Amino acid sequence: MRMVFIGPPGAGKGTQAALVVKTYGLVHLSTGDMLRAARDAKTEVGQLADQYMSAGQLVPDAIILAIVQERLAADDCRRGYLLDGFPRTLAQAEALDRILADAKTPLDVVLELRVPDEELFRRLSGRGRSDDQPEVIRQRLVAYRQQTEPLLDYYQRRSLLKTIDGLGTVEEIFQRIQQVLNPLQSKSVEDR
Ligand code: AMP
Repeated sequence: MRMVFIGPPGAGKGTQAALVVKTYGLVHLSTGDMLRAARDAKTEVGQLADQYMSAGQLVPDAIILAIVQERLAADDCRRGYLLDGFPRTLAQAEALDRILADAKTPLDVVLELRVPDEELFRRLSGRGRSDDQPEVIRQRLVAYRQQTEPLLDYYQRRSLLKTIDGLGTVEEIFQRIQQVLNPLQSKSVEDR
């Protein structure tokens, strides 16, 4: 199963992504994790990306696409993957479509985790990550609304979008996700 997981910062995407990859045997591809690893390793790409990340802004598409394209070509991705935090712009979504069309490995589903703004702010303020300062949080939400939300319509038009209510306990939310993924999983096994 190949899936994209979309949601604003603080929606609980990381927690749910971990449960999904474990349950369905997928590779977890988080561009945020990849960028933080590059930043901590002080690579050239990492230091460049950090300038955007610490301001709550999106890292330029060209950098992200180079990282993702290389990662998707690795052998382990053949068993299926969950893309977490990518794509985040229409240009990234279009580039992903081209990469996957060339490889004849289209996406199976796009999950949106939906949480109201007030709740996001409340959760993010308690998290303590370096990009969780109030002004940076605000900027990350703005980036989400302006640059990432248009993807929902993009995937809706391709009949790939499933929206999950992101309010409730971790277990409740994961059950909603399983209700969407279980039928798809049996389908993708039949197709093999
Ligand atoms: P995340 O952990 O997904 O919230 O990502 C943390 C930060 O990394 C974001 O605020 C962006 O600065 C950067 N980032 C992660 N993924 C992307 C992406 N697909 N496109 C642009 N910037 C990204």
